[in-house]
Amino acid sequence: MATTDESIYSIQNVSRRYGSLAALDDVSLDIRRGEWISIVGPSGSGKSTLMNIMGCMDSPTEGTVLLEGDRLDKMGEPELANVRRNKIGLVFQQFHLVQHLNAVENVELAQYYHSMPDSQEALDALERVGMKDRATHLPRELSGGEQQRVCVARALINHPDVILADEPTGNLDEVNERIVIDFFHQLHDGGTTLIVVTHDAEVAAQGERQIILEHGRIAREVIGVDGTPTKGQKNRDEAE
Ligand code: ADP
Ligand code: MG
Repeated sequence: MATTDESIYSIQNVSRRYGSLAALDDVSLDIRRGEWISIVGPSGSGKSTLMNIMGCMDSPTEGTVLLEGDRLDKMGEPELANVRRNKIGLVFQQFHLVQHLNAVENVELAQYYHSMPDSQEALDALERVGMKDRATHLPRELSGGEQQRVCVARALINHPDVILADEPTGNLDEVNERIVIDFFHQLHDGGTTLIVVTHDAEVAAQGERQIILEHGRIAREVIGVDGTPTKGQKNRDEAE
C-alpha cells in the first residue's frame, strides 16, 4: 500500500516477536507529517519496541514500516544507521550522554556521523534549549533537567524530520518537565513530527493523538482527553 504524501510513518501489520512472546502484535499506524503523537500504556505493553522500530534501532519480524516512503523493514544496519543520522532525533529517559565529554562536545558528537563537527552549530543548539552557558560542563556537573536539555540539543543538531522521545520527562522534576514540554511545543509549531512515549497523563495530553498500547496491540486511540482537544490540537485549530 502506498503511503500518502501526508504520512511520515506508515506502519502496517507490524509484529516483533521474541520466541513465543509478541512484544508488538499486528500493529498498524499512520502518522501525519508534523503530528504530535503520544504513546501510552502499561509497562511491557510494547511502547519502547515500537519506538525502537520507528527509530531504526530494531526491525519487525513481520509487517512493513515506511518512513517517508522508504521501507525500513527491508533495510540492514548500514542503511538504518544512515536514516537514523539523517532523519531522526532520539531522546531517552536515561539521557545516554558520554560522561567524559562536556555538553557542547556531546552535541558535536552527533555531528561526527554527519559532517565535520561544528562547535558554533552545537552552541546554537545548546542556546535553543537555554544551555549555552553550561557548554563546558560535564554531564555530572549538570542536573537531570539540564542533561536532558543537552540531549534534546543533540537530537536536533542534524535537523531531523522527526523526534522520537522515550519517557523524556521520566527522570525530571516538574519544572524541568515543563521546560522540555515547552520546547517540544516550539518544535511542533516549527513543523517537527514528535512521537513521545510517556507514563505522565499531563505530558500525554500535549499530543494531538494518544495511542494506547496493551499487550503489544493498539487498544485504542484518543484524540484529546475526554473528548476535549489536546493542547496540540488546540494550537492547530487556532492556527487555521
Ligand atoms: P514498554 O516499553 O511498554 O515497557 P517494551 O517494548 O520494552 O515495553 O517490551 C514489550 C515486551 O517485550 C515486554 O514483555 C518485554 O519483556 C519484551 N521484550 C522487550 N525487549 C526484549 C528482548 N530484547 N528480548 C526479549 N523480550 C523483550
Ligand atoms: Mg519502555
